[in-house]
Amino acid sequence: MPEAVLKRAASDMLDWHGSGMSVMEMSHRGKEFGAICAEAEADFRALMAVPEEFQVLFMQGGGLGENAIVPLNLSQGRTVDFIVTGSWSSKSLKEAQRYCEARLAATNAPSDYTRMPAPSSWELSTDAAYVHLCSNETIHGVEFQELPDLKALGSRAPLVIDFSSHVASRPVDWSKVGLAFGGAQKNLGPAGLTIVVVRNELLGHALDICPSAFNYKTVADNGSMYNTPPTWAIYVAGLTFKWLLQQTEGALSGIAAMEHRNIAKSSLLYDFIDSSSLYSNKVAVDCRSRMNIPFFLGDESLNDAFLAGAREAGLLQLKGHKSVGGMRASIYNAMPLAGVQALVAYMREFERSRA
Ligand SMILES: *Cc1c(COP(=O)(O)O)cnc(C)c1O
Repeated sequence: MPEAVLKRAASDMLDWHGSGMSVMEMSHRGKEFGAICAEAEADFRALMAVPEEFQVLFMQGGGLGENAIVPLNLSQGRTVDFIVTGSWSSKSLKEAQRYCEARLAATNAPSDYTRMPAPSSWELSTDAAYVHLCSNETIHGVEFQELPDLKALGSRAPLVIDFSSHVASRPVDWSKVGLAFGGAQKNLGPAGLTIVVVRNELLGHALDICPSAFNYKTVADNGSMYNTPPTWAIYVAGLTFKWLLQQTEGALSGIAAMEHRNIAKSSLLYDFIDSSSLYSNKVAVDCRSRMNIPFFLGDESLNDAFLAGAREAGLLQLKGHKSVGGMRASIYNAMPLAGVQALVAYMREFERSRA
């Protein structure tokens, strides 16, 4: 979370704008929260340049919830194609198989999830209800640097992307997307809010068994207030959208500034890792994530000492995911360049002291 956002939320905590209420005490149907929610949506649309023909929905259930909610809404009893490029898309495929005929159309599993399968090699169905991919694999650290153009691949299916772990870190080419979903907790705000951006034409085709509170059309028709939305999380995410809109890098602002900063942050770390003889990153250079950077120490017996020293230097949460091992630096939007510089300085010193 950006520190400025946390400070603002803290100062508004007991009394929002002289209303005499905390945001947590407001009715979600009152005019105060109505304004907060409308502003959050407008700011998100402006930030991400979301076109008119998409709805922006504020939901609950997280990314894993969407793994079921998407097929319940979009599968229409038809086949769905999955591109499996790491843990998250693999989970998405398994969950969808409970609701529809979900099939594997491509995977990078043979490369141990270290390079994206080329879109030209994907075995897409002729009439899939949609194609699912995870645009940034948080655990394996692989990211689509460009979304595939399904039309150019001969498919008429809408593309569904799970952008949970890199939303708002770079622009989205909405012309290639049918639906995007993401939990807010990595780049946008507190846990509890899930953002769904969906084309109008995809609404209204849910299976009968789809829970009403998770039916995109019902949620859209009720302005994300069919049931009580996660009000506090929407408010804090709204503060983050404003913070993101205000960011600048030279002449760039908003998402363009964030992308510029995220390239600078990730290049600094990757360049250092590639130049070092102790550390390594196994991901192919053209699909390396700008947000999640897994790396390994050449001598794994040094892992505990590395983590202990990092903790002392104030560098936290560097242990890799248990399924991959090693280390992982998650350098989300709110991590300043100075944070990555501090990490690289520590890594350099640790390597020097062991040489
Ligand atoms: C973190 C993450 C999720 C999280 O799902 P939750 O249900 O919100 O815990 C889903 N997809 C990706 C790519 C993630 O990184």
